[in-house]
Amino acid sequence: MHVKRLELSYFKSFGSTTAIPLLPGFTVVSGPNGSGKSNLLDAMLFALGLSGSKGMRAERLPDLVNQAQLKRGHAIVETRVTVTFDLSDVPPEEIPEGAVRTVESTDEQPAALEWEVTRKLRVTKQGTYTSTYAINGEPCTLAELHEQMNRLRIYPEGYNVVLQGDVTSIISMNARQRREIIDELAGVANFDRKIGQAREKLDAVKDQEDRFHIVEQELKEQCDRLDRDRVKAQKYQLLRAELNDKSVWEQVLAHRQLQDRIVALEHQIQAEAQQQEKLEAQLQTAAAELHTLSTHLTEANAHVKALGEDEQLAVQAAIAAQEAELRQLERQQADLKATQQKAAERVQALQTQMVQQQRQTRDLTQQRQTLADETLRTLAQSRDQAQADLSAIREQSQAIATAADAWVQEQTQLRQQIETLLATLDPQRSEFAQLQERVEQIQRQRESQQEETQSLNAAIATKQQQLTELQADLEQQQSTIQTLATQFADTETKARTEQETQTRLQREQREKQRQLDQLEAKEQAQQEAQGTFATRLLLKSNLQGVCGLVANLGRVEPHYQIALETAAGARIGHLVVENDEVAAAGIELLKRERGGRATFLPLNKLRGTQDLPNLNTVSGAIDYAIYLIDFDPKYEAVFAYVFGNTVVFETLQAARRYIGRYRMVTLDGELLEPTGAMTGGSRSNQQTLHFGHGEAGESAEVLELRQRLAE
Ligand code: ATP
Ligand code: MG
Repeated sequence: MHVKRLELSYFKSFGSTTAIPLLPGFTVVSGPNGSGKSNLLDAMLFALGLSGSKGMRAERLPDLVNQAQLKRGHAIVETRVTVTFDLSDVPPEEIPEGAVRTVESTDEQPAALEWEVTRKLRVTKQGTYTSTYAINGEPCTLAELHEQMNRLRIYPEGYNVVLQGDVTSIISMNARQRREIIDELAGVANFDRKIGQAREKLDAVKDQEDRFHIVEQELKEQCDRLDRDRVKAQKYQLLRAELNDKSVWEQVLAHRQLQDRIVALEHQIQAEAQQQEKLEAQLQTAAAELHTLSTHLTEANAHVKALGEDEQLAVQAAIAAQEAELRQLERQQADLKATQQKAAERVQALQTQMVQQQRQTRDLTQQRQTLADETLRTLAQSRDQAQADLSAIREQSQAIATAADAWVQEQTQLRQQIETLLATLDPQRSEFAQLQERVEQIQRQRESQQEETQSLNAAIATKQQQLTELQADLEQQQSTIQTLATQFADTETKARTEQETQTRLQREQREKQRQLDQLEAKEQAQQEAQGTFATRLLLKSNLQGVCGLVANLGRVEPHYQIALETAAGARIGHLVVENDEVAAAGIELLKRERGGRATFLPLNKLRGTQDLPNLNTVSGAIDYAIYLIDFDPKYEAVFAYVFGNTVVFETLQAARRYIGRYRMVTLDGELLEPTGAMTGGSRSNQQTLHFGHGEAGESAEVLELRQRLAE
């Protein structure tokens, strides 16, 4: 499988639609810095939606749209990247859905399968944007695209695209980070991630289960508490009712007792009254008896007076007896009166008591009435209260029941989830078992190594003994080392100052070196401008009367430079001198110095210009070479010698018609001799001598200076 084609429309530096074909194997894209090579990789990351992990070099998606296109001010600008994969060599089961068979197999060519991923980004004028993916023109989501790409082993976190700097970062990674990359490439990391995700899910489910357990526990406790409260309330109600019943009974009994007492008291009063009546009757009979007795006495007294002394004495004795009897009766009467008095008092007291009792009875009945009313009211209230409590409790328990139902449902769902997760975990468990087996193997190895270690330990013990001896030695050495260390510290500070001076000197040296490099470069440039070794030697010798190289005396427009330098040929390196004497001195100098050969053009001996025929009728001719170069008039003879009657033509085509008539050069540097010889082809860069040129871009100041120099 390989990427066969990449097509970009208005993507970053690509201002139109460009298709880049990529061949199987290895394709190199080269170009100067900033020409957009890395933008191709950005485009690939963008189209395949791999920009998440890899650094695509854009802050926001709209930065990916070609800036020039954006500036044009369209309402909507669209960038589109299409990546076409060639899947000819992919096994059928790994081919993503929707791959299109584009080329049927022939004898020479196997069938080719193409798979095309396109991403479009539309940015509005306001800066909002939308992005869409499509596989073979069918819109799809990023997740779907990634799923398909997974079959081709292209992963968002993978290393299918290696960016500028990735290789360096891989080299500088530690072993563990590199191992992660290998895992990623082998597809193990994907499973690791899935395991991690499953674990996280499982943990979350367990957490939830625990939470629900706690809630359940609390609800149960609440239920129990409410149940206990309910039992208590019921008991309270029963007791309350009993109490009310009993207190009513108590009042009834008290009332009856009082009534009984009233009846008893009334009986007693009646009995007392009868006794009083009896006593009054007795009193009356006693009074009547007394009356008869007193009449008897008066009769007896009269009888006595009538009868004399004896009789008087007898009568007196009888009187005395009668008086004694009377006194007894009087005493009896007083006693009876006292008892009557007492009885009357008693009756009085009983009556008041009775009145009191009656009042009390009335109070009690009243009290009983109010009590009965009150208890009834409070009972009714508490009954209502209890009913309200009961219904509240019922509602609560209802709510708890529904919550419990929901919880049970959730629980079963979670169970199912756990089961599915467990099912996915099973293969991983078997893998884990294999790994454990390996761990056991390693442990066995480790045990054998431990045995080895034990034997080594014995050796270590002997070594340790040696070590203690050595340590004693060491302590001695250390004291000497300390003294040495202080010395060393001193030397180190010295060394540091030395080092600093050294770095400073090095910096200065580098500075000087750079200056030297610059000077050397300058010298090189100058030497290049001074032609051969011989001419350089002459120019450097400060010989009086040397005007300079032909190349240094003329200035041309860049347009004609190639033509004029070709026309001048080797003469461009001839040395112009004031007169033949200077030339002779120069030749002498070269001989003496073994400096090689040079050609001198003495101004006093060169012949002047000849008149050149008009070129008006020559089509394609620009002008005579001598008229296309700018020089000091005193060197006219020099340039007449250098160029002769050479004519400059636009093209070789135009020049060919005049072969044999003129010496001709073209703007591309072909040379046509009057003899018919034609020289041309590719130009080497070995020619080091050039005419200078006063470009149009030269500043007024430079032109002025040039003028003054000429004057
Ligand atoms: P190097 O050799 O230095 O790595 P390169 O060839 O990889 O260079 P790129 O980094 O791909 O070059 O291209 C960067 C060029 O793309 C820059 O000239 C930048 O101006 C241009 N560029 C980036 N984004 C846009 C854009 N949205 N619109 C227009 N031009 C852009
Ligand atoms: Mg680059």
